[in-house]
This record gives sequence, C-alpha cells and structure tokens, in this order.
Amino acid sequence: MSKRHWAMVGAGGLAFLSMMAAFGTSPSTVTDHVSRQDITQDLPQPFANAAIKPLPATLFTREEKVRPGDTASTLLKRIEVDGEETLSQLRRTPNADIFFQQLAPGKTLTAQVDGEGQLQSLIFPLNGQQDQVLLIERGAEGFRAKTRPLATEVQVQMKSAEIRYSLFGATDAAGIPDGIASQLADIFGGDIDFHRDLRKGDRFSVIYEVMSAQGRMVRTGKILSAEFVNDGKTYRAVWFATSDGKGGYYAPDGKSLRKAFLRSPLEFSRVTSGFSSARFHPILQTWRAHKGVDYGAPIGTKVRATGDGVVEFAGTQGGYGKVVILRHQGRYSTVYGHLSAFVAGIRPGARVSQGDTIAYSGMSGLASGPHLHYEFRIDGVHQNPLTVALPGSPPLGPQQLGRFKQLATDQIDRLHMASTGNISALD
Ligand SMILES: [Zn+2]
Repeated sequence: MSKRHWAMVGAGGLAFLSMMAAFGTSPSTVTDHVSRQDITQDLPQPFANAAIKPLPATLFTREEKVRPGDTASTLLKRIEVDGEETLSQLRRTPNADIFFQQLAPGKTLTAQVDGEGQLQSLIFPLNGQQDQVLLIERGAEGFRAKTRPLATEVQVQMKSAEIRYSLFGATDAAGIPDGIASQLADIFGGDIDFHRDLRKGDRFSVIYEVMSAQGRMVRTGKILSAEFVNDGKTYRAVWFATSDGKGGYYAPDGKSLRKAFLRSPLEFSRVTSGFSSARFHPILQTWRAHKGVDYGAPIGTKVRATGDGVVEFAGTQGGYGKVVILRHQGRYSTVYGHLSAFVAGIRPGARVSQGDTIAYSGMSGLASGPHLHYEFRIDGVHQNPLTVALPGSPPLGPQQLGRFKQLATDQIDRLHMASTGNISALD
C-alpha cells in the first residue's frame, strides 16, 4: 500500500471519528434499518497524482464550508488560525487574490493547521473548474499560491440499503451520493420505472467509484455493479468495458441491460421522486380511458427521449398542448404532452438519442395540473408503456463472454457480501 494511500485512509479516519461524535449526541439519527459498509480498495492503476503531499502527523486538517456573508477573515476564524497575521500575509501573496475573490457559499476549503494555529496550507476549489484547485502553501519566505489539478484518488465503495419510503430516503440513510442514486435509476431504467414501481421493502446493493482528495469526496464515478430487488424480483448489473473501447451494463448472463426504450421519459431525481401526487389531478386517470401514462412532475422537469429516433412533430396540438412526437426505428413512436418548453433544436427531422433531454414538462393543453403525458405506440396503436415488452440491445459475443463472466462472478460475490454485511471475508 502506497504512502499516499495510507494518508488518505488516515484522513478518512478523522472524518469517521467526527461522524461518530455527531451520532453520539443524537443516537436517533443512526438508522437501524440500513446495513451499510464502506470498503476502500487499491485499484490496479494509480489514478492519483502526487500534487498534494501526505500530512505530517503534527498537522490538523480542517474543512470548512463557505457560508453566505463569509469573508476570508470569518472563515479563517472558524478554522482557528491566527487571522490578522495570516490575512495580511495572504494579501501580499501573488495569485492568492483568487481566494478572496471566489468565496462562494457552499465551497469547502481544506486547510492544514499546525499546533500553534499557523496556517500551513489551504486547498480551495476554483470557480467552474471541477478538477482545479488553488493551493496555498507556507514556505520559508511566506505563502506561495498556485492553481493545480486536484490530486484525486479513486476509491471503491460498497453500500447496501432498503427502501422504506423513497429511493433517496434510502440512499441518504446509507450515505450514498445522489449521483449514484440517479445512475441506479438509469441502469435499471429499462426494467424498472423508478417513478412508479418502487415498493416498500425493495433493497439494493451497489459498488461504485468515488473520486476523493484528502479524504474528501470530490465527485462520484461510475457504478461498477449493482443488485436491485424490486417487488421480490432481483435484477443485477455489471459494468463491462467492451473491446470496442466503450462499455455498458450487462446482466450476469451477458445480456445487455440497455433496452431500446427507457421505461420512463422523466429523469429520476430528488425532485421528481418526491413530487406530491396530491397536487396532481389528472383529467383522465386510467390507462384504458386515455391511452397514456401520466407522470406528476414540477413544471420544468427534464423530459427525455425514451429511445433513439427522429422528431416527427414538435408544436401545439389540441388537448396535448405543447407536444413532441418521436418516430423510432421499426414500428415504434412515442408522444410527450402538456410540455412547457422544447429544447433548442427539437424540430421535425432532428435526430435524438435515448436519454437526451428533448423538452420540459408543464401543463399546456387539456391538463388540470402539472404533469407529463406519455404514450407509446406500435404501428400507430397505443400500447401500455408500463407493461409492453421492450426490444433489447445485443448481448455480449462469445469472445467477450468469458472475460465478462469472470468479472461478473467476482462483482456478484461482493454485492452479496455488501447485502449480508459480511465484509471481513474480503480481506
Ligand atoms: Zn395523460
């Protein structure tokens, strides 16, 4: 294990201790229904670079979020450094003005402070540049400031959770980032409509990458594998990099999880998952009556093309209000009604890919509340999009299947361990 990696684990340990302290004051915040495990693994390739040195033991790491109204002075006070002296030094430091100019609320700065309250270093994210930071370091002759790439390290995490009320309730309780929750919904989106199909007692395990620096998550990576038990039925997905340089999610038998159509045209997000159906009174409620599916959604929610296709119509049409009609390969077409706006470039003849945002939901036309009206037609005949059998993508060929099955067996073992909490067996 590299020295850098050791430093990471150390920083993580600190965070863990402070979390324990937080839980100690209010034990009720500990969720009893969720089993969760974190695993940090060394990856075969070193993704990190050595831009940020490991911490000597005598330094303390402080993280502080910029609050509205903060100044450099109030921030430094909170991380308990000798404010005035440090401030005047920083003001004289070339390039350090970025720190004073970009104190946007919500940003997190990471500082190393020695036992005497002297600021030794400070890492500060730059505006609009996800992977660039301002690094301020104390040298023999005062501070030096420079922008540099963030030294990120890829960690692999395993989490498991059970759904009591909502997917996001479960992911929150298990400490799973929102980005991973949305990816889960996308990966299984051909089989499960996350807006409608989730049941209390559904559970899932997921193994995913996290990019972190100095023990702090910078952003989420991709899901490596996942298992989702929906209404008693188990679905599994394993990421596989195919030999054409791309990759995708496959079931353990090598079948592609990518369907020609997504089950739901609405992006699944914290907002749409929590949208109250009490505010939504569809005029025509049942499938039989109006041959579509209605999704309650706040006005402006992203509407996605459920499959690759060509725009046949984008405009206003009777009770549909603003509507997009897509024609797909073969006999399929899809309809998206009551929209509030179209995405630029969505006009007859335009090509769209599955998952592209084509419009925003609304309540135009014959709609008594904000919702998306969605239809799925085969040869012009309405089909119930919630139950129609959807065409799939080709499975892995025999040349790739062997390599995939090895990987899949390993990932499924790990998912099983995550779901049973039997993590020690991994070491
Ligand atoms: Zn409808």
